[in-house]
Amino acid sequence: MIKKISIKILLAFVLVGFLSIGTLIYEGMSFRQLIDTQKQLNDKKQESLLKLKESEAYLTELKFLYSIAPNRLDLILLKQDRQRVELLLKNLNDNSHFLEHDIDKKLEALDTIYQRIYASASKFAQMQAQKIVEKSATPLFENLESALSYNSDLIHNKYNEIEQIRNQIVADKLNHIFYISLFLFISFILFGYYLRKQFTKPIDDLTHLLKKAAEGDHVDHVPYLERQDEIGSIANATRTLKEYQNKNKKLTYELNQFNLSLEKNILERTKKLEEAKKEAESANIAKSEFLASVSHEIRTPMNGILGLSDLLLETNLDDLQTKYLKTIRSSGFSLLDIINDILDFSKIEAGHIEINSNPFDPNEIFQNIVNLYSDKASEKGIIISFENKVPDVQEVLADDVRIRQILLNLVGNAVKFTKQGEITLIADYKENKNNTSMVITVKDTGIGIPRDKFDQIFDRFSQANSSTTRNFGGTGLGLAITKKLCDLMGGRISLDSTVGKGSTFTVEVPLKDLTKSKSKKTTKKKPAPKPKKEKISLNKNILLVEDNLTNQLFAQAALEGFECTVDIADNGQIALDKINEGHTYDLILMDCQMPVMDGYEATGKILDSFKNKKEKCPPIIAQTANAMKGDREKCLDAGMNDYISKPIDRDILKDKIIKWTG
Ligand code: ADP
Repeated sequence: MIKKISIKILLAFVLVGFLSIGTLIYEGMSFRQLIDTQKQLNDKKQESLLKLKESEAYLTELKFLYSIAPNRLDLILLKQDRQRVELLLKNLNDNSHFLEHDIDKKLEALDTIYQRIYASASKFAQMQAQKIVEKSATPLFENLESALSYNSDLIHNKYNEIEQIRNQIVADKLNHIFYISLFLFISFILFGYYLRKQFTKPIDDLTHLLKKAAEGDHVDHVPYLERQDEIGSIANATRTLKEYQNKNKKLTYELNQFNLSLEKNILERTKKLEEAKKEAESANIAKSEFLASVSHEIRTPMNGILGLSDLLLETNLDDLQTKYLKTIRSSGFSLLDIINDILDFSKIEAGHIEINSNPFDPNEIFQNIVNLYSDKASEKGIIISFENKVPDVQEVLADDVRIRQILLNLVGNAVKFTKQGEITLIADYKENKNNTSMVITVKDTGIGIPRDKFDQIFDRFSQANSSTTRNFGGTGLGLAITKKLCDLMGGRISLDSTVGKGSTFTVEVPLKDLTKSKSKKTTKKKPAPKPKKEKISLNKNILLVEDNLTNQLFAQAALEGFECTVDIADNGQIALDKINEGHTYDLILMDCQMPVMDGYEATGKILDSFKNKKEKCPPIIAQTANAMKGDREKCLDAGMNDYISKPIDRDILKDKIIKWTG
């Protein structure tokens, strides 16, 4: 629309412009023509005046020639005068075109007069000629002079009149030019005003409103909505924008409100989550405490059962009694295995297992495991052997305790599920991109595992065959624990097996470091013969702090077996009293959880009591059924020198006594 209007206005403007400028050009051109005409008239005037002046001069000379003609006696001179008169008359005649009053006719008469004078001019007709001059020529000359004078006035008057007309025309033209210019000027102003009113002002106004709307300012009223052209469209668009802006404001307000309520909800949720987290954490703590107490409660009687049956086996029993007692003892160990598995699994699930890195000789662990199972294997007629593929490996940096636990599970299973043949442990090392891995292979010639059970057996409480528990025992936790330990160490476990032929479990554990020695050359080692139990005499005076009677009985028997004297205190307070009473001991075996005063507090107080004494406090070794993470640290932090977990292994107890008493 604007385009059409603009074109129309432009056309009108161009038309007005063309007309005005055309008129101006026309006026200019006619002005110029006027100037040219004026110039020509001036020239003509000058020419006329010149001719007039010439004619006057000719006339004066002619008058002279006429006056002397009657006295010219010399015919040659007269002839010459005659020729001169003819020339002057001819010139005058030529000029007479510019003059009025029938000068040409008068000249003709003058010529005739001269002919008469010429004819009379002689000695004899001088008088006659004189008369002709006086009568005819002189009045004619006077007449001609007045005619010339009249012509002079005429020329002046005529040209003055022309000048006046020209001045009038020039004034008219200048007026025209002025009015046209004025018209053009007013047209321009009106056109500019029209453009401003119709286009630039509305565009300015709407741009201003749009800017305001874009900046988020409030827009009250949108003008030019009634217009049908593009300005109207822009106005409508501005109104739509304004409406959107209002909606947007409303939405923003609602969004802010929603945000506020969302934030409130999030805060509430976060609070609830934090509460839930706290609850979960306290539940986890409760679970850990429960595990600790279950561990303690089960291990304590197990300590008694296993320890005392061990001691009882060393007494004089008949064969049947020995058989029964061995069954009790092996059942106890089985129960302990199950308890250990359940506790281990729970500890892993609860995130209570930490992977450590210690430098150790891997060959020692393999050898130890082989030794441990060699009795059981030989009972079944199975050969168990260890093959070290890289014998120069002297030391590796990894978690020895967990690797040992993995080996115990795998070799334990191999022994359990193999009736005949052999079990081979292989240690090898693999160079990876960033590190070296230890590759452990446990190979047996046992019953094997069906392929479709390969994944399943690594699940907790899962066994390859429903008759497994009946035939072989077990809980189905060993491989689940093994896999979890492998994962925790960043390693993996794989299986290859054929039913009836045997199974091969391969474990790959990344090592933090590996040291090789040049000398070691062992490749295949037969299990070292188990050292026979010898009677050991330690001869130490030991204070046993223990509240549980069974455990007192076992520990006392075990210690006395090492030919030690044992003084028993039922709790920490009694132990402290004994020390304060001046009793001296080579070593104190301290239980941790006891009524009246626990082992931690008693240790602290005993250590304090030695501060002012000359002699040193005897070494204190914790003996506790607490086998949870952090228990060892807790004992050492309380000031104890070492730690033995229950059920107490007599060999370990003996080693610790030797270590601390020298
Ligand atoms: P458990 O031995 O206590 O039953 P595990 O988790 O150690 O539990 O083993 C799960 C199952 O995997 C076993 O019950 C057995 O069916 C199968 N299995 C494990 N090791 C062997 C093996 N060396 N030979 C044959 N079967 C095995």
